[in-house]
Amino acid sequence: MKLAAAGGVLAAALALLISLYVGARQRGLEAYCRNNLRHLGDLARRNWELVDSQRTGRDFWQAVREAQYRDVRGKWQPITPDPFVCPVHGTTASKVDDPKTIDYRGPIKVRERLKETPRTEPLGADRPGNHASGGFVLRMDTSVDDYPRLVERAQDGDALWAAAAAALKD
Ligand SMILES: [Zn+2]
Repeated sequence: MKLAAAGGVLAAALALLISLYVGARQRGLEAYCRNNLRHLGDLARRNWELVDSQRTGRDFWQAVREAQYRDVRGKWQPITPDPFVCPVHGTTASKVDDPKTIDYRGPIKVRERLKETPRTEPLGADRPGNHASGGFVLRMDTSVDDYPRLVERAQDGDALWAAAAAALKD
C-alpha cells in the first residue's frame, strides 16, 4: 500500500516536471518565432527598394529573401537558422528558392515605398495553424523615420488576427 502511494507521488512529480519542461520549451519556441518576424521586418526595411511590388503574399517574403541572400550570380548565401520558417509549427523544411516553404503570410498590397504602408496594417504574420491559436503579427511604425518593428501575439478572434487576415495572404 505504502509503496503504491509513493509510486503515485513520484508519478505526479514526474508529470509536473514534464509539463514544466513542455511549457518552457513552448515559450522558447514562441520567443524564437517572435524574433523571426522581427528579423523579417528588418529584412523588408533593408530591401524594400529592391522588391518588385507585384510580388505579394508569401512571394513578397520570397522576393525579400532573394534580395537579401541571393547574389548577382544567383548563388545563395547560407541562411541558418532560416527566419522564414516558424519554429512553433516546426515541420517545414527550409528550401530557399521555394515560397511554399515560407511559414509567414505576406501583404496583399505592396506599396511602392514602405513609408506608404499604414502603421496599423500588418506586413506579415504566422499562417493560420502554425500555433494552437492565432500567432504573431508584424507591423511597422511608418510614422517614425526608422520604422520600428512591432511584433504582437494575437489569438483566434482578436481584432489584430482579423486585421492580419484582411491585409495578408499566402
Ligand atoms: Zn510562429
